[in-house]
Amino acid sequence: MLKKLRSPLYLALLLPALLTLTDVLSPIDHVYKNSRAKIGVHPASPSTIVLSFDSGVQASGKSIISTRRLARVLENLSAQMPHRVFVDTPVKFGEDIEGDAALVRAIHKLNPDVSFVVRSRKLGVPDYKFSAQDFDIPDNEKIGGAPVVLSAWNTNFIDYGIFSPFSIKISGKQYSTLSPALSGVNQIWQPSFVPDYLFDIKTVPHLKAEKFEGGDFTLGQLTGRTVIVNSAGVTAPIGFFGQRRVHPLALDLAGADALDKPFAVALGSFPILILAWLFIRAGSKSTRKRNKLILHGLALVTILVVPAALQVLGITLDNAAGIVCAALYGGIRLWQLRMRRVQHTSASGLPNLLALSAQPLDVGRDVVVAVIARYEEILATLPKDLHGECARQIARRLSVGSGTETIFNGEGGHFAWTEEARPLEMQLNHLEGMRALFAAPLEIGQFTFDTNIHFGLDRNEGLDALTRVNSALASANDALASGRAVELFEAERLEEASWELSLHASIDEGLRNGEIWLAFQSQWDIKTGLLCGAEALIRWNHPTRGPIAPDAFILQAERAGRIDALTYWVMEEAITAALALNAIGRHIQMSINLSAQMVDKAGLVPSLMEIIRRRQINPTQLTIEVTETSSVRNRPAAVQNLSQLRTIGFRLSIDDFGTGEASLAYLADLPSDELKLDRRFVSRILTHERERHIVRSTIDLAHALGQTVVAEGIEDEATYRMLGRLGCDVGQGYHLGRPQPIAELRKNLLKREQMPKRVV
Ligand code: C2E
Ligand code: CA
Ligand code: CA
Repeated sequence: MLKKLRSPLYLALLLPALLTLTDVLSPIDHVYKNSRAKIGVHPASPSTIVLSFDSGVQASGKSIISTRRLARVLENLSAQMPHRVFVDTPVKFGEDIEGDAALVRAIHKLNPDVSFVVRSRKLGVPDYKFSAQDFDIPDNEKIGGAPVVLSAWNTNFIDYGIFSPFSIKISGKQYSTLSPALSGVNQIWQPSFVPDYLFDIKTVPHLKAEKFEGGDFTLGQLTGRTVIVNSAGVTAPIGFFGQRRVHPLALDLAGADALDKPFAVALGSFPILILAWLFIRAGSKSTRKRNKLILHGLALVTILVVPAALQVLGITLDNAAGIVCAALYGGIRLWQLRMRRVQHTSASGLPNLLALSAQPLDVGRDVVVAVIARYEEILATLPKDLHGECARQIARRLSVGSGTETIFNGEGGHFAWTEEARPLEMQLNHLEGMRALFAAPLEIGQFTFDTNIHFGLDRNEGLDALTRVNSALASANDALASGRAVELFEAERLEEASWELSLHASIDEGLRNGEIWLAFQSQWDIKTGLLCGAEALIRWNHPTRGPIAPDAFILQAERAGRIDALTYWVMEEAITAALALNAIGRHIQMSINLSAQMVDKAGLVPSLMEIIRRRQINPTQLTIEVTETSSVRNRPAAVQNLSQLRTIGFRLSIDDFGTGEASLAYLADLPSDELKLDRRFVSRILTHERERHIVRSTIDLAHALGQTVVAEGIEDEATYRMLGRLGCDVGQGYHLGRPQPIAELRKNLLKREQMPKRVV
């Protein structure tokens, strides 16, 4: 229930209703009335005419009329036989005894059709109740016993007349106000009435009273009409919507005009508010866009046009509450739509990671971000209209696997959700299990894709949602880069973060001062037993952290965006070493590792070409080692780069063969010259027959494709011999030589050391 009340729809009803009851919306009503009264005004009826001692209802001067002058006007009026006469002017009684007597005589002559109008001395605020002290009611004898009507207007905060009572009780006697007296309509079921501001006060018929004073008038001119003898007197002007300040007689006439209408009721704010709200509600529930538009349009018509139209019938409706209702609803909806756009991924329509970070996370939940390998490649293959479907299909699988309803979708193949925080072992198994869901290829339209998924896990409950989502995201990217299934984001890594941040500078410093250096591990031709090559392996002896394993800091360099600089440095150093060995007549093959982060980069080929041109080295002496890796972002670009390097003359080697998931596919995609058997295989060939078979058939396959086979990680003589028997071409490993500084490699070469014996 409470939720319903907080929805924009109900808020748009309740808030204006509440504001209406507290009356704070009346300024809006008044602005609307004021601007509306400038258009569509109607003229005054000719049956009422004002005989004015000054310039009629728009006058502002002071004129208090003597009894003698007034008596002459009334005397002459009686000859015209008007329907009724209202004397609406202050009169100076008791200064001219003869004049006073003449006035009484003139009144009696006109009797019973003359009334005196007495105006309130002050303007009343909206809830003001007029009483005796607001009026100077003249003595009954002085006005010859003529009846008295009152004029009293309640005003808004800037003295605009807004309503008048039908009658006012003074010393036990009920006095009618002027408008009901003019129109003959008495109090219906409301105590007050509102004037019709569309009444054009400039069209009120009006004659100079002086004419009747001097007897200069046409007979019959006023016969049967209602005559108001008026002077501005001391009456303060009053605001009239659409007209600024006028004599209050204008409001009395507009009030009479309103009461003459068939209905003459003021219904307040609620009818428009409720009607408009019903239209808005129907519009918001409607699913068809056209109907929505029509219904919302009807709401606006209700608010802006209906009050003006019904005014013609005398029905006064306030619309400020309706305006606030529409503005509130429209405003909130626009804001919601904007938030929806910000918090949703456009292609899939799924909420995005921002939406997940924006909400407080439930207690006892882990944040998981999954990243789809080769996602951009998949999208590049798919027509654009299927991109959303692709994301939704992945989200559906993840939803099934995780048992959570809402999967959040970031750009670039990231999906996030929260998991119940199980014990770590269980959680990892659970995520490992979810990978099986992606064993079956994605089928989108007529396209089929094999893909792989990696997870980033954040278990740091207590940190804020945004930090946790970002941590899980970074971990997922790490998992993708390292090819691991799950990467865990631990709080200690936040401390590591500062070291990672400074890594950029540290690497540059390390390269300058020799903390970072290059080791070379020898490679031996198994058939001849001669040293035939070396692999360049990077080393870092950090002054405070000690030796840092390349596996660790290469990953960090990739993250810190320093991998390019590092790779080109290795390239230059390795070439220097190779050229130095060439100079002493030993031409050996030099192998260099190329990070998966770099293989798809646009600048790779031109940079390497520039280096070999400048260093004057034959690229065939250089072997580029690439690992099969699912973390290559743009696989087609990578394949193109590597093919180009091979065309230029570089030898290409597939590193760690047999560990990746798609090695065979890679072999098919990528023409290469060399295959490096991973050391995890090599170390088991003596003890595991299965591995031995795999190695044998891999060697045969490589040979069939015209490739050289290198076995790495040879740690003993028996393994070395076995590899020879299996047909392996080249060996590398601790048994044959540890990674060592170039000087030592050079010494060994000069000794023409023939470490391993020829295998027969
Ligand atoms: P990798 O390319 O597979 O390099 C071979 C690794 O095996 C080296 O570890 C080497 O020291 C080690 N190794 C050699 N013989 C044996 C053996 O008989 N037994 C055992 N257990 N290990 C042996 P290292 O130097 O720690 O390098 C680790 C990884 O770091 C390398 O694996 C390579 O992927 C990466 N790396 C090293 N230098 C560079 C570089 O300059 N650039 C890039 N991008 N990556 C590099
Ligand atoms: Ca390598
Ligand atoms: Ca390797």
